[in-house]
Amino acid sequence: MSRSEPVEASNFIRNIVDKDVAAGKNDGQVVTRFPPEPNGYLHIGHAKSICLNFGTAGRYNGRCNLRFDDTNPVRESEEYVDAIKEDVSWLGFEWSELRHASDYFDELYEFARELIRQDKAYVDSSTAEEVREMRGTLTEPGTPSPYRDRSVEENLDLFQRMKEGEFDDGQHILRAKIDMASGNINMRDPTLYRIRKVHHVRTGDKWSIYPMYDYTHCVSDAIEGITHSLCTLEFEDHRPLYDWVLDQLQTSCHPQQIEFARLSLEYTMLSKRRIIQLVEDGHVHGWDDPRMPTIIGMRRRGYTPASLRDFCERIGITKNDAWIEMAVLETCIRDQLNREAPRRMAVLDPIKVTITDLPEDHEQIFSFANHPQDDSAGSRDVPFTREVFIDRDDFAEVPPPKYQRLVPGGEVRLRGSYVVKCEEIIKDDAGQVLELRCTHDPATLGKKPEGRKVKGVIHWVSATHGVAAEVRLYNPLFTLPDPTKAASLEEGINPESEVVLSSCVVEPALQQASAEQHFQFERIGYFVADRHDHGSDKPVFNRTVTLRDTWAK
Ligand code: ATP
Ligand code: MG
Repeated sequence: MSRSEPVEASNFIRNIVDKDVAAGKNDGQVVTRFPPEPNGYLHIGHAKSICLNFGTAGRYNGRCNLRFDDTNPVRESEEYVDAIKEDVSWLGFEWSELRHASDYFDELYEFARELIRQDKAYVDSSTAEEVREMRGTLTEPGTPSPYRDRSVEENLDLFQRMKEGEFDDGQHILRAKIDMASGNINMRDPTLYRIRKVHHVRTGDKWSIYPMYDYTHCVSDAIEGITHSLCTLEFEDHRPLYDWVLDQLQTSCHPQQIEFARLSLEYTMLSKRRIIQLVEDGHVHGWDDPRMPTIIGMRRRGYTPASLRDFCERIGITKNDAWIEMAVLETCIRDQLNREAPRRMAVLDPIKVTITDLPEDHEQIFSFANHPQDDSAGSRDVPFTREVFIDRDDFAEVPPPKYQRLVPGGEVRLRGSYVVKCEEIIKDDAGQVLELRCTHDPATLGKKPEGRKVKGVIHWVSATHGVAAEVRLYNPLFTLPDPTKAASLEEGINPESEVVLSSCVVEPALQQASAEQHFQFERIGYFVADRHDHGSDKPVFNRTVTLRDTWAK
């Protein structure tokens, strides 16, 4: 999707649901679910699925459950469960019911026995290796297992003993009996249950067997009365199995599975496995590092729930995999913050300016509007003194062409204040500029200078009243649009992805900033007070996004 395309959410799923509701299918009810596996933190791709599932239900006054797909106890943890709940709530959604696939372990077990009784499932005692070999390939059909014709009685007995913990991991599996010659490999007698003698956070040591995802998912959907089971495209080939299981069991509810494309976002990666690796290998400071594509990281970076929902709406829902440009995401937050964020002045790389023709104790208080287009945002006091700081790149001893900021002997306006003229440059032994000595034109407060044009306007902060702050600049975490193309995870990381500036000076009003408050630093960008590290004794701001689109070249 390119930036110039009109912003309109195409949503084929909405059209399907519209038709179903109009036709009175499922009594006109719409019930969806968001089914994360609690094996990591949610990322922006999950936000797409959350917005779709909750949004679809919300549109029809339906229900959407949050269901933890907790069938793989080895990889799952309560830390993730709590984080996922918090992320969904933070995004602005309320689940109708909180469920766990493990709530259905008893029913799933009974249903499996039902399949055995119908001779639609059997216990296979082949090794994992043998099962793999017998599965065949895309071009070769599979071979039936020697255990495929076990009697119903024997299968029921073995399955019960698997449950009771009589066997070791891998000794037996329960498989559906479908079609070893099917063109769809998922239909070649897929595994329904495997032995796993592990403790489960919710069911403890009750189970020695755990159901597989494909079997669990459709049954869970049916039990919850889900009408539309929305999932990503990689499950398209699993749909026949989804339907097969529900057909055999003749569940009263048979949800319709509909697949949509996953989100892929340039310069980042949305795979839990890889995201975990970034954290574990120490490439980032943690799950909530502001460079991370996790919801919690984006929150810390300064993204808002509204901006993420806006993003999900803008990218739409399709059946085609496509990469989304980072600019699309950034535009969403920039648009919101441009409308809403109060303006402040901050100097990231200070040089001192002394206005030599003002008395030592000069002090003037200006009242600055918090927002240029919104009077209701009010104003704040900004003190002006003899010594102020300006940003190092607002001065050039040898200016490039068309440079409109401060130059030796030149004039510039200090934003909302006087026009000043650079009379003298003071440097250290290494030639680095330490201080600029300027004079001011007292007739220029709120007025144009007489008889000459001064084009440049720069921001500043009083040296006497300014507050020391740390400012963290963030850039894309990866150097390539598709980071998987890099030689290794490490090679792909942008060494400039985090730049910490620890000697910034910000205007006094920012001392009152509260954590997670957003600001525009005039002429610089949009920033948020860090959720964790910011305090009035040591303000810390994270750059959410630059003022302008830096991707448009
Ligand atoms: P893993 O990477 O561990 O396989 P997953 O990314 O599939 O995990 P789940 O917890 O299984 O994560 O996902 C929950 C839901 O979010 C699923 O319905 C899944 O399809 C959806 N989802 C995950 N990643 C994306 C993505 N990039 N875009 C859209 N939906 C996604
Ligand atoms: Mg998954």
